[in-house]
Amino acid sequence: TSARPQRKSPLCYTCLNPNKSAPVTPDEQFLLSQHDYRALLAGVCHQCLLKRLHSDETKVKLNKETTAHNALHLKFSKATDLWTAKETCVYIGKSMNMKGSQREAIWVNFLHQEERLSSYVGKDYLKPRGIQFHLMDVERQMTAQHYVTEFNKSLYDKDVMAQIFFIPSEALLILNGDEIVGCLTVEPYMLGNFVKLTNNTRKKDKTFQATEY
Ligand SMILES: [Zn+2]
Repeated sequence: TSARPQRKSPLCYTCLNPNKSAPVTPDEQFLLSQHDYRALLAGVCHQCLLKRLHSDETKVKLNKETTAHNALHLKFSKATDLWTAKETCVYIGKSMNMKGSQREAIWVNFLHQEERLSSYVGKDYLKPRGIQFHLMDVERQMTAQHYVTEFNKSLYDKDVMAQIFFIPSEALLILNGDEIVGCLTVEPYMLGNFVKLTNNTRKKDKTFQATEY
C-alpha cells in the first residue's frame, strides 16, 4: 500500500464510497464484487481503478481465441478522469497476423447490439502482463486524444477547417463468471492501411495512377 495521500475525485464512486469490507486477498483480487460492479458502472477515477486492479503477481494473456466472452467495456475520459464500464459480450476472433515487438492484433466483434457491429482491433501483449499495463496504455492514448481535441477546437476557432484524426482506445475486461480472466485494448478498425500505403514507396504500382509524380 502506498503512503501517498490520494486526491479525492468528486465524480469517482470509490472515492465517494470507500469499500468498508475486508480488503481482498490476492487470490480474490480479480473476482468482482457487487461493490466493484456498482463502482465500475457508475465511474471510477484512474487512480482508484489502478489501485483495485494493479498486480505484480497476476499476469494475464488471453489464450482462447475464436470464442465469445462476457466482458466489461471500459472507456476513459481525460476530461473527467473517470473510467466507466458497460456490460457487454464480445467475440474474440482470429489473430490479424500483425505483431509488434510487444503486442499483437486480434479481431474483436461486439455482440452487444448497442455497439456498432463493425470490427474492432484488439491488442494483447505477446507475453502475459499485469492488467495495469493495458489500462495505462488506454489512459495514455486518451490523454493524447484529449489534447488533439483541444487542438482541433482551436483550429475551428481560427476558422481552419482541418482536423487531426485520432483513433480512440478502450479497454475490455474479459470475464469468466465474475472473475477477470483477460484484458485487451480495443480500437475501431479503420478501413485502409494508411501507414502501409505511405511507407510503400518502392513497390508503388503505377498501373492505376493518373498523374506521374
Ligand atoms: Zn477515486
